[in-house]
Amino acid sequence: MTLRSKLLASPAPLALVLVLLGVASVKTLRSLGESPTLILKDNDLSVRAAERMTEALGELQDAAVRRATGRAPREEEEAAARRRFEEELAVQEHNITEKGEAEATGALRQAWEAYRAGFDALLTLPGPELQSAFFDGLVPLAARVRQAVAEIRNLNRDAMDRKSASARRAARRNVDLVVVATLAALGLGLVSSLALTARLLRPLGVLSQTVRRIADGDLEARARVQGKDEIAALASEFNAMADRLSEYRRSSLGELLQAQQASQAAIDSLPDPVLVLDAAGAILNLNGAAEAVLRLGSEATSSALPPELREVVDRVRQHVMAGRGSYLPRGFDEAVPVATPDGTRHLLPRATPLYSEESGIVGTTIVLQDVTRLMRFDELKNDLVATVAHEFRTPLTSLRMAIHLCAEEVVGPLTEKQAELMGAARDECERLQGIVDDLLDLSRIQSGRLELRAERVEANALLQSAAEAHRQPAQDAGVSLVVEEVPEGAAVRADPERIGLVLSNLVANALRHTPRGGRITLRATGTGEANRFEVADTGEGIPREHHERIFEKFYRVPGGSGGGVGLGLYISREIVQAHGGDMGVVSEPGRGSTFWFTLPRAGAERAAGAA
Ligand code: ADP
Repeated sequence: MTLRSKLLASPAPLALVLVLLGVASVKTLRSLGESPTLILKDNDLSVRAAERMTEALGELQDAAVRRATGRAPREEEEAAARRRFEEELAVQEHNITEKGEAEATGALRQAWEAYRAGFDALLTLPGPELQSAFFDGLVPLAARVRQAVAEIRNLNRDAMDRKSASARRAARRNVDLVVVATLAALGLGLVSSLALTARLLRPLGVLSQTVRRIADGDLEARARVQGKDEIAALASEFNAMADRLSEYRRSSLGELLQAQQASQAAIDSLPDPVLVLDAAGAILNLNGAAEAVLRLGSEATSSALPPELREVVDRVRQHVMAGRGSYLPRGFDEAVPVATPDGTRHLLPRATPLYSEESGIVGTTIVLQDVTRLMRFDELKNDLVATVAHEFRTPLTSLRMAIHLCAEEVVGPLTEKQAELMGAARDECERLQGIVDDLLDLSRIQSGRLELRAERVEANALLQSAAEAHRQPAQDAGVSLVVEEVPEGAAVRADPERIGLVLSNLVANALRHTPRGGRITLRATGTGEANRFEVADTGEGIPREHHERIFEKFYRVPGGSGGGVGLGLYISREIVQAHGGDMGVVSEPGRGSTFWFTLPRAGAERAAGAA
């Protein structure tokens, strides 16, 4: 049954009850309208007949009086009155309706027959007798007839009164009946209509309850609606949708779970501790190594970290959250020693931001690289370098002295060939001395024994002395060496010997990498609280990918020749940073290089204090 037909059928009981009520009412009304006239018609006939008979009897009595008083008889009128009486009597005889009426009518018939016989006898009598016969005979007969007629009339009148009273009662009863039937029908119709409507609405309730449960997240909820109507069709469509939805959730949940397990497995497979922090610094996730090394539970908070590590983690997290990109450590000296179950471990923090599509950086991934072994190797290497450099110093000094004496022909004259060889040997000895000096500086820096004697130094004096020291080699190499004019009174707070070494290193490098005819420029400019020094050359330049790496220990641009062991720039930057400055390079292959470094201005006590 369709919803349409159900909707149409729901007022049907009410309509049916209305029709029944209408039929009953019409029937009652009709019987009410008909019965009194029907019932009273017969009695009325009898009453009228009785009246006419009385009338006819009166006329006959008048005629009898006429005759008794000797007047001329009116025979025609007598016959007519007699005929009328007969007719009305016949009518009455055919209209017996009441109890006792038949007997009364019989009595009337007898009385009438007696009266008629009396009247006929009267006609034959002579004058004097006639009078007495009339008064003694006919008048009593007429009285009998009149009485019989009156009885019939009364009988019928009583019946009429009785019947109209009962009709009134019946009418009153019918009104009561109609009212009761109306009320009953209304109640019945309403109840059945309500029941039908409720039945019609029940599936809608079931459907809306299911929708609510699904909206609350219970994707297993289904609408159970039987039947073949539109709501049942809607419910089955709805259930199909819920099936697909829960299937989708199962599959996407599965995939999500798998992806999550895979990424957890990936970070667990890393040997170094990994922490994932949210924007506020709370730990979102950590790997097995972090649990083991830092003795953290899987539900740990950042306050459970060892205090020394917490500070570093906070610092790198703030670096990342401030939008300054990934945090990369500059060297092993940033490694944090942490006591672990297997002894002290050195952990080097490295951090990368976590991005979300909507709100930018939402967290930080921190990898604490375990550099304990690497640091031990580094230490070993440093020890070796220091020992070797130290051990080289004395024999090298003797060697230099001996070659110097030979080259200067103090111990005897040399042939031209021998002098040339001695010159070459002296150059290589100098280079070797430079390397040994670099190595000694390195070991000093590494052991933290780089002492600075900072004082106020004129920038111009620093540049001039560096240029002076390389004037001769520059001339030999055919490269012009220029010191640009320094603004009056530009002075820095620095250790002149160490900064002299830095400048000398940069000029020596520039000389080594600038072909004949080139130019080397030394300049100093003031920027804010720092002075900026520059050594610019017109040499071969350095490819971009090496710009940062040439400042690392022992790094040399591949394919380069001559020079030291790749320590010059490392040592220079360490010295500059120890002063509180920084160092870098601007260069392009074929267009020369400009090495720059900054030093705090003399008088800028804050920066000098930092140095
Ligand atoms: P080294 O003592 O071997 O020169 P440095 O640390 O001083 O080591 O320099 C590292 C590398 O940087 C060198 O091998 C060289 O290739 C490159 N370099 C340094 N200065 C210059 C320059 N002015 N022009 C081109 N390359 C340079």
